[in-house]
Amino acid sequence: MKVVMLGAPGAGKGTQAKKIAAKYDIPHISTGDIFRANLKNGTELGKKAKVYMDQGALVPDELTLELIMDRFKNDDCKNGYVLDGFPRTIPQAEALTKALAAEGQKLDIAIDVEVSDERIVKRMGGRRACPNCGMTYHIETLKPQKEGICDKCGTELIVRDDDKPETVLKRLSVYHEQTQPLIEYYANEKILLTVDGTKDADVVFSEIVEALK
Ligand code: ADP
Ligand code: ADP
Ligand code: ZN
Repeated sequence: MKVVMLGAPGAGKGTQAKKIAAKYDIPHISTGDIFRANLKNGTELGKKAKVYMDQGALVPDELTLELIMDRFKNDDCKNGYVLDGFPRTIPQAEALTKALAAEGQKLDIAIDVEVSDERIVKRMGGRRACPNCGMTYHIETLKPQKEGICDKCGTELIVRDDDKPETVLKRLSVYHEQTQPLIEYYANEKILLTVDGTKDADVVFSEIVEALK
């Protein structure tokens, strides 16, 4: 199964993608996580990506595509994947469609997690992320068992640099300009599912599971 997650930054794409990946035993591929891992390890790619990420801007398509196409070569992609944070521009979506078509394949579903801008801004302030395993929490709605500590790996949670309020606003405007058009793109492909991302994360997930049946 090949799934794409759509939605504004902070809509809950990652939260749902992790649940989907676990239930259907497919890898969760987050381009944001891959960029952050590169940043942490000080790779060339990480250094290039940092400039854009710090500003809340998108990393150029060319760099992003190189990274994702390479990731697809990994063995774990045989049975599909859930893409989180990719594609984020029309050229990225077109490149993905083309790459899949070249292998006689296509996406099964694109899931748009809908949350208003106002709610997003509130949410991002409370997001806490694990710098080690990428798990995300929220100080009010999705608390870890022990405050400030990752349930999965015990690492101390952080506020992402790009989750500061000014950067969140910038990322939202980038989203509306460059990523939102993908909703229409996948509606035209007849694979769009829209879910209400303001509902409880478990409720959102059960709606997704229902649609995947
Ligand atoms: P969020 O989950 O909050 O939407 P991500 O972790 O997906 O954020 O992305 C963080 C940053 O990484 C983005 O603001 C952007 O700079 C970069 N990035 C991630 N995925 C892409 C992509 N597909 N194309 C371009 N830039 C990307
Ligand atoms: P994205 O990957 O789209 O940027 P995340 O999955 O990281 O979004 O979620 C953003 C923040 O909102 C996190 O703090 C997360 O714990 C919280 N969150 C995710 N889903 C929900 C939900 N359905 N209701 C309330 N908070 C949520
Ligand atoms: Zn962790």
